[in-house]
Amino acid sequence: MLNNFKMARRFFLIIYIASFICGITYSQQLLPQPVIPGQWIKSWMLCGPIPLQIPVDASDSREDPTGFNTDYLLKAGGEKNPKIKAGDAVRYPKGSVKWKLFNSPDSIIDLDKAISQDDPVLAYAYSEVQAEETRIWFISLGTNDGGRLWVNGTNVWDNQQPRGLLIDDDLIPVLLNKGNNTLLLKIEERGNRWGFCVRFLPFSLNALDEKDGLLTITTGLDGEPKIVSGFSTPVLQQLIQSLDIEIVNHQKQPVLNEQRTTDFTGKINLKPGDYESYNASMDIHLKNGDKMHREVSFFAGKLIDYTLFSNRTSEYRIALSSQASESERWAASELQHWIKIMSGAELPVQDLEQQYTGNQIIVGYNDFVKGKTGAAAPAHQDESFRYCNSGPDILIYGGKMRGTMYGVMSFLENEFGCRWYTPSVSVIPQKKDFSFRWFDHSEKPGVRVRNDFYFEAFDPVWAARNKVNGSMNFRQQPGGVESYWAVHTFYPLMPPEEFYDKHPEYYSLIDGKRIYQEAQLCLTNPDVLGIITERIKNRMRESPEYLIYDVSQNDWHNPCQCEKCQAIVSREGSESGLIIWFVNQVAESIEKEFPDKFIGTLAYQYTRTAPKEIRPRNNVVVRLCSIECCFAHDFKSCPENSSFLTDLRNWSALAPHLYIWDYVVNFSHYIMPYPNFNVLQSNIQTFRENNSIGIMEQASYQGRGGEFSELRAYLISRLLWNPDCDVEKVINDFMYGYYGRSGKFIRQYFDLLHGRINPETHIHLGLSPDDKIFSDDFVSESCQLFEEAAKVADNEDILRRVEMASLPVLYLKCKRTPVLAKYDGTYAKFCTIADREGVLFYAEAGEPHRILFHKILESSK
Ligand SMILES: [Zn+2]
Ligand SMILES: [Zn+2]
Repeated sequence: MLNNFKMARRFFLIIYIASFICGITYSQQLLPQPVIPGQWIKSWMLCGPIPLQIPVDASDSREDPTGFNTDYLLKAGGEKNPKIKAGDAVRYPKGSVKWKLFNSPDSIIDLDKAISQDDPVLAYAYSEVQAEETRIWFISLGTNDGGRLWVNGTNVWDNQQPRGLLIDDDLIPVLLNKGNNTLLLKIEERGNRWGFCVRFLPFSLNALDEKDGLLTITTGLDGEPKIVSGFSTPVLQQLIQSLDIEIVNHQKQPVLNEQRTTDFTGKINLKPGDYESYNASMDIHLKNGDKMHREVSFFAGKLIDYTLFSNRTSEYRIALSSQASESERWAASELQHWIKIMSGAELPVQDLEQQYTGNQIIVGYNDFVKGKTGAAAPAHQDESFRYCNSGPDILIYGGKMRGTMYGVMSFLENEFGCRWYTPSVSVIPQKKDFSFRWFDHSEKPGVRVRNDFYFEAFDPVWAARNKVNGSMNFRQQPGGVESYWAVHTFYPLMPPEEFYDKHPEYYSLIDGKRIYQEAQLCLTNPDVLGIITERIKNRMRESPEYLIYDVSQNDWHNPCQCEKCQAIVSREGSESGLIIWFVNQVAESIEKEFPDKFIGTLAYQYTRTAPKEIRPRNNVVVRLCSIECCFAHDFKSCPENSSFLTDLRNWSALAPHLYIWDYVVNFSHYIMPYPNFNVLQSNIQTFRENNSIGIMEQASYQGRGGEFSELRAYLISRLLWNPDCDVEKVINDFMYGYYGRSGKFIRQYFDLLHGRINPETHIHLGLSPDDKIFSDDFVSESCQLFEEAAKVADNEDILRRVEMASLPVLYLKCKRTPVLAKYDGTYAKFCTIADREGVLFYAEAGEPHRILFHKILESSK
């Protein structure tokens, strides 16, 4: 009995001890945690530290320089399928570590405490979670430092880099199966703190798609494109029913069209040849019935570097078809000239038909271009252009009139950095060699007629290079111009000396009397319409070189008060209604004979307000003038400009074509600082938005020497071509390209000047030297900046440009403080520079203004 008892006691003791041991063993094993949104996963099996080696430098060419990529769990199923038990050893080359359970009291698993404070090292962390159903979750990860994560054996995250721990730093979509799921994190320690935190958050496709997209396309160094995703394969399989993918090459020709119901990522079966761009259109049909659409542009194909020139030689020729236009031939000679200046290599200009074994730059559209690109022939007047390559050959083409020519100039500007800042200053970089892989660049004009009305912009070659195609009156220019014939033409077309005596009824009825002095025409008189129509037709036949022919009011008021005229005015609520009624009839009469021409008329002073209903015909251009506006602020932001903006919008609602006569200058003092640069882009954009086919930017047009005229002429040429161009970039490019090292100080002066503008400072065409935007401090600070600029001028030529730019500040000082300017040498300096540069127009008034200015300064005591 006793023995039995003893035995029984021993037995219970064994059971007790065993159960005790079992208990410990049990508590050292991981318990799968339920997946609850937002709840931290705190229970982990940990194993580490395993030493890493940080490579000495980036050139360390060993395949796995740090040892991070080594699978240390190979003996226990591998990282993709690990079988983990507390106490099991994991071996690394010079030692081993054991798995142990760690239940963190906190959201963060502090590996410095749980494992070690050594570095560089790595550790494994393993956990299991229990899901109630099969669905996609975000696994939210924060790590210090980087690492790699597997969920159910699928690698869902790989990000080796030093970083600090941030909660929810990565949100990775993962598919959890109903029941048990495994998590394995391999985490590196590069120094300082070491730890991680993990939780699950509800999955939202929208949040993720906005960030990265479900699927996208990338191309490896081998030139092979493939579909990739930020989502793991199990997640994609769970989400996507099917994928329709259509790919076109850069000529929009289809090259692939397929549907996938599995394998949504991976290689695309394109057969790319030479390196080129493609566009993929992907329709992703989701299992929940939603459809997602995605457009992706990518490059693929063999990367070949083609050498255009090297060491003063080139294998290329410039080739033109025998049908090339005059401007295309001119452009080819420009191309030849500037490439030679850049490289020392002279490319022969040849007929395309002539035998040639080397590579070529083709200038202009022709059968060769058609064969290579499949492009249709551009219209003669089409100014848009494209340059691209077909293997080693470079194709530059557009409309024959100016398109090709602009393409050549843009090719030189964009690809080589050539600049034609002024008629006499071109900045052309020197290049020993030039290679390319791929070009495909197209542009089209933002405004059809671009009239940059600066003296500096009238040089026909400069204008052609800088895409200025508009002119008042006609000028000979490569590619020709779109010119506007005349203004204020009522009397030039119907001179009172010819008609008034016999037909006073042709002229304005004013206070009961037909008069012609400072008056207009009686537009409802049918004879007036007949005579004007006949004469404008003759003008168009005699001078067919214009685009627009003017029929507009004289430059004063006094419109006709007769009953018939005023009936139309009152019906339309504006004198402009009568003018449009009249001009429409002229335009209708000329339309058949001159289908591509316009009749232009003014919306100016008493006709600035738009009519109520009558619409200008399609071949009528309304020339609206902004002369009354504030130019410190743009049309949209300044209350002083709101009536102009209303008129502009009303006209644009009625008129298919506007032509704007805008002002970018101070007429009273061309040569004085005028801070209106901030409005140029916005105002041109406003005109474009309102049906403007032409913009004339009236500036200092009579001679050199307007304030920043060179920069303004250059910037405006760019804005008229592309109203969305990067103005800051253009200004800085000019500052450093044209003024060299001095540009830094001139830019500072430019900013100082524009800093004088605030919401209360309005400026107009007649800004005066004593305006509140100026101060004596401003003048002395500006003079200081120009002195600094002069000190660092790279050479004599640049010094002259800097001095030219300083004239406005010297002028302002002379006007504000003549006595001081005379005695401290400012006036003498002004005279020296102005004489040397031949600056004669300080204001639109010209000579009288200049004489008065010098008289005042010379008599100052
Ligand atoms: Zn009348
Ligand atoms: Zn203003």
